[in-house]
Amino acid sequence: MSTLRVPKEFGVHRQEKVVVVPLKKVFEGVDKLSIVRKIFGKKTSEIVNSLTVELHSRRGYMGVSQDDGRIFLSQPYLKDGPDHYLYLDIIHELVHVKQQRDGKDLFDEDYDYVDRPTEIEAYKLAAEEARRIGMNDKEILEYLDIEWMSASALKKLVKNISLELQTVFPKSKPNFSGWYQTK
Ligand SMILES: [Zn+2]
Repeated sequence: MSTLRVPKEFGVHRQEKVVVVPLKKVFEGVDKLSIVRKIFGKKTSEIVNSLTVELHSRRGYMGVSQDDGRIFLSQPYLKDGPDHYLYLDIIHELVHVKQQRDGKDLFDEDYDYVDRPTEIEAYKLAAEEARRIGMNDKEILEYLDIEWMSASALKKLVKNISLELQTVFPKSKPNFSGWYQTK
């Protein structure tokens, strides 16, 4: 048993620079998109206008808070991510926003990430939209192949979202343990 102890009067405030802005300040025209209107229906404008994005400095993509439905977005990703990735990811996250508003558990530990019904719904819609905007199978697969997903999990995800692909599986990227692992 170690006797290492920092003095009790010492404390740490581990602050990360966090900025919360309206969604509209980050992405334009979201409420005009037919795919988004498909998610929220008549309430699209009202909901999209009320959404906020929390920008954080960690590497990663996007996520949604189970508590209040705010969207998390990695600043490095916002800076360097391709437009079509950001487009598909915001669609994915808006599906989670709808699910969160419907009272669904976005982080149901009874399922692995790629088997979770909330993820399957989000990935399915994003993949369909990817095809609609002209991405080919290889590009869709590369988009789905996120850094912290294993090759077998990716394969399972493709099967779970009923995506018919005319291409071979890429070798999965290395595991990025330092990433903010959410999407
Ligand atoms: Zn997701």
